[in-house]
Amino acid sequence: MRTRFAPSPTGYLHLGHAFSALTAADLAQRGGGEFLIRIEDIDRARCRDEYEQAIYDDLRWLGLDWPLPVMRQSERMEIYDDALNQLIARGLCFPCGCTRRDIRKALSAPQEGAGLDGPVYPGTCRARSIRDYHKGDAIRLNMAAAIEAVGGDDALARLTFTEIGPYHTGTHRLYGDWLRKVAGDIVLARRDIGTSYHLAVVVDDAAQDITLVTRGMDLFPVTFLHRLLQALLELPTPQYHHHRLIRDESGKRLAKRDDARALRKYRAEGVTPAQIRKMVGL
Ligand code: GLU
Repeated sequence: MRTRFAPSPTGYLHLGHAFSALTAADLAQRGGGEFLIRIEDIDRARCRDEYEQAIYDDLRWLGLDWPLPVMRQSERMEIYDDALNQLIARGLCFPCGCTRRDIRKALSAPQEGAGLDGPVYPGTCRARSIRDYHKGDAIRLNMAAAIEAVGGDDALARLTFTEIGPYHTGTHRLYGDWLRKVAGDIVLARRDIGTSYHLAVVVDDAAQDITLVTRGMDLFPVTFLHRLLQALLELPTPQYHHHRLIRDESGKRLAKRDDARALRKYRAEGVTPAQIRKMVGL
């Protein structure tokens, strides 16, 4: 088995990252498998080399080890383009120039259509042809067309993934209604970076032969979308282990701006890796 930790170098790693990386490495060790790292740095405006270096330092300090060279998404843009072009060639994509504001305005009520990350796309540009692509457009997946491309609603129900983590354990099948109404016409290529997390993550988990995706519970819902993209791109489906999230005293999930919980801060204070394990409940 092969699993991975896939941080974005947009800040210093905190306790939540330590938990995620250690969970993945422990699973690999117990399964007699391999633990890999992937740097998810497609968003060049937010990523910094200094943070990437800090990721390696912090993970080594935690006692982790991984094969080199490390896969870096910023070096793989052409590969994401190829995947996108496959979907475009099959007529499954459209260009979209809508801003977040346009999308909110097109919805009749603000609470309407809460989707995966913000409101569900209302379909404003869906009829546009890819030939009408303008610089500055995003590329979206036409969800209804994508569902048809895998064989329609009945065929979708045969697309499954297996969760082996502590929550929602078992086999999950895809539902057309959820994909259409909650995921919607998701962005496959952002206007500013030319690809997206969803596209890059499925391409790379396949490229790294990942058999078990270990990541936070917050990403459980998007796994349904990832499974659909795997079907469209004919990529293998790994198993999934979504782990709990580390929260602060007020119950809020830790974010990169929570400097107080940065690993390097604890390290500077003399906290040991063993103590970090304890702090995150391992
Ligand atoms: N790069 C993502 C993050 O830092 C992780 C994505 C994944 O594990 O699939 O949250």
